[in-house]
Amino acid sequence: MSGASTSFHSYQEWQNLADQLRPRHQLFINGRFEDAASGKCFASMNPANNAILAEVAEGDSADIDRAVMAARTAFDKGVWSQETPQNRKAVLLKLADLIRDNLEELALLDSMDMGKLVEDAAAVDVPGSAAFFQWYAEAIDKIYDEIAPTGAGNLALITKEPLGVVGAVVPWNFPLDMATWKAAAALAAGNSVVLKPAEQSPLSALRLAELAMEAGLPEGVFNVVTGYGETAGKALGIHNDVDCLAFTGSTPVGKMFQQYAGQSNMKQVWLETGGKSPNLIFADTDDLDAAAAMAAFGIFFNQGEVCSANSRLLVERSIHQEFLDRMITQAHAHQPDDPLNPAAKMGAIVSKEQHQRIMAMIEDGKTYADCVVGGEAVQLNGKGYFVQPTIFNDVPPDSLIAKEEIFGPVLSVIPFDSEDEALAMANDSIYGLAASLWTGSLSRAHRLSKRLHAGTVSVNTVDALSPMTPFGGFKQSGYGRDLSLHALDKYTALKTTWIKY
Ligand code: NAD
Repeated sequence: MSGASTSFHSYQEWQNLADQLRPRHQLFINGRFEDAASGKCFASMNPANNAILAEVAEGDSADIDRAVMAARTAFDKGVWSQETPQNRKAVLLKLADLIRDNLEELALLDSMDMGKLVEDAAAVDVPGSAAFFQWYAEAIDKIYDEIAPTGAGNLALITKEPLGVVGAVVPWNFPLDMATWKAAAALAAGNSVVLKPAEQSPLSALRLAELAMEAGLPEGVFNVVTGYGETAGKALGIHNDVDCLAFTGSTPVGKMFQQYAGQSNMKQVWLETGGKSPNLIFADTDDLDAAAAMAAFGIFFNQGEVCSANSRLLVERSIHQEFLDRMITQAHAHQPDDPLNPAAKMGAIVSKEQHQRIMAMIEDGKTYADCVVGGEAVQLNGKGYFVQPTIFNDVPPDSLIAKEEIFGPVLSVIPFDSEDEALAMANDSIYGLAASLWTGSLSRAHRLSKRLHAGTVSVNTVDALSPMTPFGGFKQSGYGRDLSLHALDKYTALKTTWIKY
C-alpha cells in the first residue's frame, strides 16, 4: 500500500525513467568496479514482469578476500578511521545529499529489483536512507568519551574506538535501507565496511557505493560484493580478518553466522532476524477505523515483506466481527498491480521462491482456518509474482500460519476474551521483534507495553520507527540494535587507557 500522499511521477513518466536505467553490475572493491575473480554472473530479475535487469557479478570467497584486504588496508592507513569526526560528518552529509539528488534512480532500482511500489521507495526508502546517513553524520561529532574517577596520580580514559572491518549481510525487503542501517552507523564510527547485499536485490547497494565515493569516502572504506549467501555471505561470516558481522535476515541464517564466528575468529555478530508481530485490538479503542487502516498498513505495506509486519491480529471478541469486516474492506482496497503504477496499492513478491513459499503457507492455512478474503496468486499480463491480500479468520493459535513468519500479505485473525489471554498469545512466539497495541486506556497501554516481549511496542499505531530510536528484537528476533546512538555500541570497542603521573 502506498505511503505517498501525492505521486512523484505519472505511470508513463516512471516507465520512461525505468527505460533509461543502466544499473551498475560489477563488484565495488577498493573504489573501483570490477568483475568477480571467477568471471561468473547471475541474473537480477524484475519480479513484476520477469525481465532481466542486469547480469550481476557473482562474487565468492576470492572476492570477499580482496574486499576485506582493501577494507583492512584503508583502516590501517587511517584514511577514514583516523579522520576527524568533523570531516567524517562532512562526507556523510554529502552522501545524504547525493542520495536525495538521485531519488528517482534509487527508488527505481529497488522497485524493479524486488517488486516494491516505486512511489513507496521514493516516499519512504530513499528519503529514509538519506535521513539515516544524515543522522549519524550529525551525531558523530557530538559524542564525548569518559574519564574515570580515579583520584590524583592517575588518569584513566575510557574511549570508544572503531573496530576495524565490519561485514554487513542484508536482505532484499528494504535493500537500500537495510544496507544504510548498517553502513551509516559503522562508517560514522570510523570503520571500513564490506557489504554483501541479497542476491535478489543487489543493484541499489552498488549505486550507493558509487555515490559514497563521489561524496569523498576514501577508496577501500566501503566495498560491495554481490553474490549468493552460501558463498559470498558465508565467506564474509567466516573470514578471519573481519572484526564484526552485522546481519539482517532470517533466523536460520542468523544462527549460521553465530557458527561462522565460532569456527573462525570469534568476531562479534549482531543479528536482526525474523518476526511474527502481534497487533492487539481492544474493544475500548477510540477509533476502530484508524486501527483497521493501520492494521492493513501493518500487513500489506511492502507486500507484507517486512520483518516487523503485524501478521497476527488479536481482536477482542466483542468487536471481532465488526473489525474483521473493516479488515476485509481494507484488503479489497489493496489489490496488487504494477509497482511502477502510482495508483497501485501493493507490488510484486520478490521472487518465484518466495512466491511459492507464501502460496504453500496459504494452502496450509486453508486446511484449518477460514480464508475470508484473497488467498490466490495473481499475474499481470501473464507475468510476475503477485499474491492477493489475504486474511484468515479464527486461526488456531498453535497452527503453522499463526506461528511461522510468512513474509507475505497474509494476516491471521485470532479472537481473545481477556487481557491476560491476549498477552499470553502475543508472547507465545519464538520471535520478539515488534508488537502493536490499540486501546483507549492509558493504564492498559502502560501495563501491556511493559509485559509484551518485543524490541518495539507501538501503542495506537503500528511499526513506529525513527533514526532516533533503537530497532531490534528479543528472543529469536536477534540481538543488538540498529538505529539511534545505541547502534554505535555495536561498531566500537571500549578502550581503557591508564596514565600515571
Ligand atoms: P535470508 O536470511 O535468506 O538472507 C539474508 C542475507 O543472508 C542475504 O544477503 C543472503 O544472501 C544471506 N545468506 C543466505 N544464506 C546464507 C548463508 N548460508 N550464509 C551466509 N549468508 C547467507 O533472508 P531474506 O530471505 O533475504 O530476508 C527475509 C528475512 O529477513 C526475514 O526472516 C525477515 O524477518 C528478515 N528481516 C529482518 C529484519 C530485522 O530488522 N529484524 C529486517 C528485514 C528483514
